[in-house]
Amino acid sequence: MAFSRHTFFILFFTFITLFSCKSDDSNNGVVDPRAENLKSLGTSAEDILSDDVYTSMIVELVYTSAYPPKQETIDRFRNLLNDRIYKPGGITFVENVISIPLEESYSLDEIKAIEEEYRSEYTTENTIALYIFFSNAEAESDSPAIKTLGTAYRNTSLVVYEKTLQLVSENQNIDLELLEGSTLHHEFGHILALVDLTNDDIHQDHEDMANPNHCNVEDCLMYYASNFARNIKRLGVVPDFDPLCIADLQAKGGK
Ligand SMILES: [Zn+2]
Ligand SMILES: [Zn+2]
Repeated sequence: MAFSRHTFFILFFTFITLFSCKSDDSNNGVVDPRAENLKSLGTSAEDILSDDVYTSMIVELVYTSAYPPKQETIDRFRNLLNDRIYKPGGITFVENVISIPLEESYSLDEIKAIEEEYRSEYTTENTIALYIFFSNAEAESDSPAIKTLGTAYRNTSLVVYEKTLQLVSENQNIDLELLEGSTLHHEFGHILALVDLTNDDIHQDHEDMANPNHCNVEDCLMYYASNFARNIKRLGVVPDFDPLCIADLQAKGGK
């Protein structure tokens, strides 16, 4: 077993999917109540960060009883939102425990189908809704050496591969709390359009050109390797946004 401590285990942190929305199945003037939540990644950053359009926010956590997020993760995420987001009407969390068959893995289309079936909170007049699914199966694209930990795939939707995180936590001897927090916060950073996802950040020159839409500051939450096992072990904490990323968020109405 001595060799395992030198195993170079690469975790593919994220895989941003730029989703061009297919909400143009127009239906005789009837407005799809989900329309506001079917936009592409990064496009609702301002609506989430500021109170210009939406004065409150609802965060829906969807998971199965076998793979729930840790309470510490929920509390930490709530703190992140309170630190960065301006919602004078408040931020509410809703937990939605679902029963779905055990699968080996999910393609992104299957992840979207789960959202379509089980998401219960959608953006309304004053309240923007965020959906987070803690997956009970790994990503279909995973290989033994490369694991997807999370994916932000629409303006208000992200998946955290909770089953994968639990396995990595055991195999790599890393706190599950750190893995969950780093993954969730990093993916949420992509929902907030970091880095320069919508080509309008004020500090565009901190984008890592070798790893697009990531930050070139090594200790930043939005660094491409912020969730590699070795990085989490080195930092020992869930990373924060660095000052350049924070300035980008503030330019869009965040705190
Ligand atoms: Zn990323
Ligand atoms: Zn940064």
